[in-house]
Amino acid sequence: MKYAKVIVDISVDSVDRLFSYALPIEAHIGQRVLVPFGNRRVEGFILEISDEVPEGDFELKSVIKVLEDYAALDESQIELAHWLKNVYHCTMAQALRQMIPAQLRGMRVKEKKIRTISLSEDFDKSTIQSLRKSKKKEILQLLAEATIDVAVSDIVELFPNSYAPINELIKEGIVVERFVTVYRRPARIALQCVEKPVLNDEQENALQRIIQAVDEGKQKTILLHGVTGSGKTEVYMHAIEYVLSKNKGAIVLVPEISLTPQTVARFTGRFGNSVAVLHSRLSAGERFDEWRRIRLNQVSVVVGARSAVFAPINDLGIIVIDEEHEDSYSSETPPRYTASEVAQKRCAIANAPLILGSATPKLTSYYYAKTGKYELIELEKRVNFMPLPHISIVDMRKEFILGNTSIFSGLLTERLKECIDAGEQAILFVNRRGYSSFVMCRACGEVIMCPDCDVSLTYHKSENALKCHYCGIEQRIPKNCPKCGKPYLKYMGIGTQQVQEEFERLFPNTKFLRMDTDSTRGKNSHANILEAFASKQAQVLIGTQMIAKGLDFPDVTLVGIVSADSMLNIPDYRNTERAFALITQVAGRAGRAEKPGSVVIQTNNPENNVIKLAVRHDYKNFYEEAIHERLQSLYPPFSLFVRVLFIGDEQETLIQESRKFADDCYAMLCDILKSNSADCSEILFMYAMPAPIKRIKEKYRQQVLIKLARTKHTSKLIKAIYTYSDSCNSKHLYSIEINPNDML
Ligand code: ADP
Ligand code: ZN
Repeated sequence: MKYAKVIVDISVDSVDRLFSYALPIEAHIGQRVLVPFGNRRVEGFILEISDEVPEGDFELKSVIKVLEDYAALDESQIELAHWLKNVYHCTMAQALRQMIPAQLRGMRVKEKKIRTISLSEDFDKSTIQSLRKSKKKEILQLLAEATIDVAVSDIVELFPNSYAPINELIKEGIVVERFVTVYRRPARIALQCVEKPVLNDEQENALQRIIQAVDEGKQKTILLHGVTGSGKTEVYMHAIEYVLSKNKGAIVLVPEISLTPQTVARFTGRFGNSVAVLHSRLSAGERFDEWRRIRLNQVSVVVGARSAVFAPINDLGIIVIDEEHEDSYSSETPPRYTASEVAQKRCAIANAPLILGSATPKLTSYYYAKTGKYELIELEKRVNFMPLPHISIVDMRKEFILGNTSIFSGLLTERLKECIDAGEQAILFVNRRGYSSFVMCRACGEVIMCPDCDVSLTYHKSENALKCHYCGIEQRIPKNCPKCGKPYLKYMGIGTQQVQEEFERLFPNTKFLRMDTDSTRGKNSHANILEAFASKQAQVLIGTQMIAKGLDFPDVTLVGIVSADSMLNIPDYRNTERAFALITQVAGRAGRAEKPGSVVIQTNNPENNVIKLAVRHDYKNFYEEAIHERLQSLYPPFSLFVRVLFIGDEQETLIQESRKFADDCYAMLCDILKSNSADCSEILFMYAMPAPIKRIKEKYRQQVLIKLARTKHTSKLIKAIYTYSDSCNSKHLYSIEINPNDML
C-alpha cells in the first residue's frame, strides 16, 4: 500500500498543512484527488507519496479517486507554491490555486468532446457510385473523400436534417462514430505572415547577450531598455526562437490591456500553433483548454497577462516581461505577488534568464540594472526611423489669466479643429486616478504639498480638508494661495465625463468615443470601442490610461493630454515615474504611420522637469534626477513600505487595535534588529492612522504604515511582521501589503 500526503483545497489557516491518506489507487505527485475530510468530501493536491505508514494517532482514510488522469501540477510548480506561501504569506491551498484554472476547482469546467464519424474499414467505397441519389449517398461521398474523422455538426451544417441518415448508417455498421476531445481555442485574427526581419546591430547584440544567458543556464535578470519602436519585441521573438531550438519553452507576459489581437497575431504569426494565449477575456472553457494544451505539452510558448507567470510550461527556457513598469503586474488580492518576483523564482528553479523590457523602466529596475543586480541592455535607435511627434506644452495659467476658463486651451481647440477638418483622428487623454484630487492655484500653479512627505495633499470633500496619504497629517484649505496670495485655489482633477461635455460643447457635430472603466464594464466592450475607433466610426477617442498602451492607429495625428498635472500631483512617491511613462507612451500614439503627428500637453507647471524630459524621451536624465530624490527621501528601492489594514464596524476598536499593533510590533522589530547588532532606526517610521479612504461600504478602515530601510535585515523584519500579525489573532486585520500600487 502507498500513502499520500495531501493539501486539501480549503484556504483556512487551521487546515493549512499536509494530511495523510491511504492511496489504494494509482496516482502521482501533483495530481488532484477527492478525499474524505471531516464528514464531507473535498478536493486536494497530492504533494508527497511514500511506502511508509504515516505515524500518529488518527484514523487513516483513503483517497477516493483522482480528478484528472494527468497531474495538474509538476514538481517545479509545487516548489514554486512553497515559495509563494513563504514569501507572500498565504495558505498552501491559495498558492496551489494560482497554478490551475479557477474553474477546474469543483469541476466547473469540463473537456469538450465532439461526435465524429468516418467510414468503417470494412466498407467498400466503390459501392457508393451505384447508390441512388439520397442524403446517405451524399454523406458517404463526403466521408470517402475525407482523410480524417468529420464532425457530425459540420455534416449537419452542410446537409441539413441529416441526423437520421447518419444514425442509420452507424446502425448499419457502414459508418463508425467516435467522441474526440477538442480544444476550445480563443478566436484569432488571421495569422499575419510577416517576413522575419534581419536584426540590426543593436538588436543582434542584445540577442547574443540573451542567447549567452540561455546557454549559461543560470538564473539572470536582464533589463532591455529601448524606446517604443526600437525593436524589443523582435528581439524577444528571436530569443524565443533560440530557446525553442533547444527544446525548451517560453513565457511572455504583457499587460492585460495590451493583449490586443495585434500583439497576439505577432506571436501566432511567428510561432503558429505552438502558442497558447491566456487573458481575462477568455471563456472558462477556452481558458481551461489553453491551460491543458500547455500542461499536456502541446505548446511551448505562452503569451499572457500577469497570471500566465504560473503557466505550466515544461522545461522553461526564458521568461519575458514586456512593459515591465506596468502596475498591473502586481496582484491586489492574496497572494499579493509581483509577477517579476515570481518570474525570478521560476527562472531560478529552471536556470533560465528573465528579460524585463520597457521604454520607461521602473526606477527600481533601472537602479538594479545600474548597480549590477540585473544586466542592462539598451537599444538607442528606433528601427523604423520614424520621427518622434512634435510636442507643444501649453501653460494653462496663462490661458486662465487671458480669460480662457475652458479645460481646452486655445491651441488644443485649434489643433482639434484642424485634425477633424482634415478627416484625421485624435485622442484626448485624461488621467484616471482622479479619486485623489489635489488643490492648485489656477493663477500661479502652486500645489499644496505635505510639509513632511513631499507629496501633494489630497482633498477630502466630505470633511473639506487636506490630508497626507503617507503620514496622515491634516490641514484646512487656505483661502488664498500661500505662494502668490491670490484667491484662485481650486480643487483639481478632471474626469473623462467633464472632457466629454466640453468636447460636445465645442464640437457638437463630431463623432467621438469614450473609454474609461465606466464605459468598459462588459466582456468585450473594451475591444469593441477600440475596434470602432480603428474602423473610423468616430474621429475622437476620449479616454484614460487604457488608451495609452500598445495600440496602433495609423490615422491618429493628434494627441491631447488634457492635464499633465493630475498625473504629477498624485500623492504617491511613484507619481513622477508614472507620469514620465504615461507622457512618453501617450505621445508615442501620435503619427505612427506616414502622417506626421503632433501632441499638445496642457499643464499649470510648464517648467516641470518631468514633463520636459518626457517630451525629449530623455529617460536617462529623468532617472538620474528621480533616483536622487528617492535617495534623499529614502523611498524605494532604498526602503520599502508595508501597509497593515484593519477593517471593521467600530472605529474606536480599530484605533485601539492598530495602535497596539504599531507599538508592540515596533518593539518586536526593534528587538530583532538589536539582536542582529543593528539599529532601530532601520524602521524609518511606523504609525497607526486612518486609511486614506476612512470608510468604505459602511466599514471603517484604519492602517499601520511602516517604512523600512532596505538592508540585509528587511526580509527578516517582513517575516516577523507576518508572524506577529498571525499571533495577534485580530478578526479586523484585513491585509498586509508590501509596496502596494495604491494606498486607498
Ligand atoms: P518595440 O517592441 O521596441 O516597440 P518592435 O519590435 O515592435 O519594437 O518593432 C517596431 C516595428 O519595427 C515593428 O513593426 C517590427 O516588425 C519592426 N522591426 C523590428 N525590428 C526590425 C528590423 N530589424 N528590421 C525591420 N523591421 C523591424
Ligand atoms: Zn505627509
